[in-house]
Order: sequence, then C-alpha cells, then structure tokens
Amino acid sequence: MKKNILLAASAALIMLLSGSALAQPPQGPPQGRPAGAPQQQGVRTPPSRVGGTQQPNGQEAPRMTPEMTEFYDPVPPTVTPGSFDAKNQNWGAPSDAIILFDGTNLNEWESARGGEAQWTVADGLLTVNKRAGDIITKREFGDFQIHIEWRVPEGIQGSGQSRGNSGLKIGGSTGYEIQILDGYNNPTYVNGMVGSVYKQTIPLVNPSRPNGEWQYYDLIFTAPTFNKLGQYRTKPRVTLIYNGVVVLNDVEIIGTTSYIGIPPVNQNATYKLLLQSHGDPSEPISYRNIWIREL
Ligand code: MG
Repeated sequence: MKKNILLAASAALIMLLSGSALAQPPQGPPQGRPAGAPQQQGVRTPPSRVGGTQQPNGQEAPRMTPEMTEFYDPVPPTVTPGSFDAKNQNWGAPSDAIILFDGTNLNEWESARGGEAQWTVADGLLTVNKRAGDIITKREFGDFQIHIEWRVPEGIQGSGQSRGNSGLKIGGSTGYEIQILDGYNNPTYVNGMVGSVYKQTIPLVNPSRPNGEWQYYDLIFTAPTFNKLGQYRTKPRVTLIYNGVVVLNDVEIIGTTSYIGIPPVNQNATYKLLLQSHGDPSEPISYRNIWIREL
C-alpha cells in the first residue's frame, strides 16, 4: 500500500513538473495513478496544487478547472427502493435485499437446536414459540444492513426483562445481542433495555411505542477483523435506528454479549443471525417484514 502511494505521489510530481498533468482533462485512469497500477475503488489522488503559481521553469502553471475533480466511475449499482404498503403502513424491501421473512414461510431459518424452525407463521406474522427455542438463519453475513419489525402483544404482563423479551443476536447464541424488549414504561437495567447492545451499550434515547403497536429496527453492522492471534484488529461496530431514531451511533462492540461475565472475543468474521426465544413467561412477541442487504 505504501509503495503504491509513493509511486502515485512520484508520478504526480513528475507530471506536474512537466506541466502536462494539469493541462489535460481527467480521461482514463485518475490523475496521479501510474498506468497499470491497481485502482482503489473510491480512492482518488487529490490534485497536488490549484495552479496559477510559478513553476521551476518560470512559466505559469495552468489553473485547475471544475471538471478536473469530477469523476464518472465507478458507477454505483441501481437499487429500486421498497414500495409503501398502505395496509400495513410500512415499507417493503429494496430490490437487492435478501428476504428473511415475507409473511409466508421460514425457508431462510432453522431451529438453533437443529432441524426446522418451529415458530408460528400465521396471518403474515412470525410469532415466537417459546417451547421451540431460538431460530437462526441458514446463511451467514459479514457487513450488512437489516430491517426487522416486531410487536409486543397489547396488554402484555410481566416487568423488566420478563416482558416481551426477545433479541437479535449476531453470531448465534454466543454472538452479539441487540436487545428487543418492551421498552414502554418498563424500567430495567439500562444496558439491557430495548435498543441496547446487551450489557454493553445504553441506547442514546428511548423511542419505544406502546405495546400492541408495530416497531422497527434498521441496523447496520460492520464485522470485526482479527490479527494472527485471533485478537481484534478492528472491533465490530453497529448503528441502530429504532422507529426512525438513532439509538446507537457507530458503536464499538467490545465482545460477545454474555449474561454473566466479561465479553470474550468472538473470532468469527461472518455470522448467522438468531432471533431469541426468551425463557420468561410473558406472552410471545411477533415479527414481520425482515430483510437484509450485504454491504
Ligand atoms: Mg433478549
């Protein structure tokens, strides 16, 4: 990497001294990148000067034009955003999403105990089956964006962690849990409330709706990287938008979210996603409209 930067900087300096670099519009490779050198996506060598100053040969260097900093590649892929579903008052999945639940089946899921996922699919909803345990995706994901909607039953009984507890666990039962819980007039430890990275990070605010109403998460996850010892080189990070409100803003996840003890490092770089069947006796919550985009 350093070698490429040095090569690019040297080439840019040579072109500048010859007066040729700034006299041409940006055709072909970006300026400063030697012919044949690999192009880094989204990275451009910045112009080394704005022109209009004296060169060593005593001549005036040409001034830069607006076109010299306007690029036309790479072109981002076109994505068709989801359309609005007036009946359910929500937005559908974009065209490049993997649909994890569309209201009809559990084809993308299996039981975390093994075998078929045994949660209840009816009337377009997915309802937790507490006897059947957690469900987990068949696929694994690295960096991703996920959308998920849930509803705590109206009039649910219980309190704190025993009222509408579920959760999105990135990496299965030993992964990172983003808590899902009734958060409306339901005090509990704040680093375990809805919108928290469980037992690690308190959400910035609490935009929960009353139970009986639909709520949603839009979550962006960046997978960690590791050194040869299996230690974090970069930790996992998460941004969480809850009912349209940012509650976790590019938060670093320390390690797996254990009920007891210090968070250990999870050495995986790709993850299955688990929906939790919590052992509390409150009425089970329901999910709908779950989709994911790999980033
Ligand atoms: Mg939970």
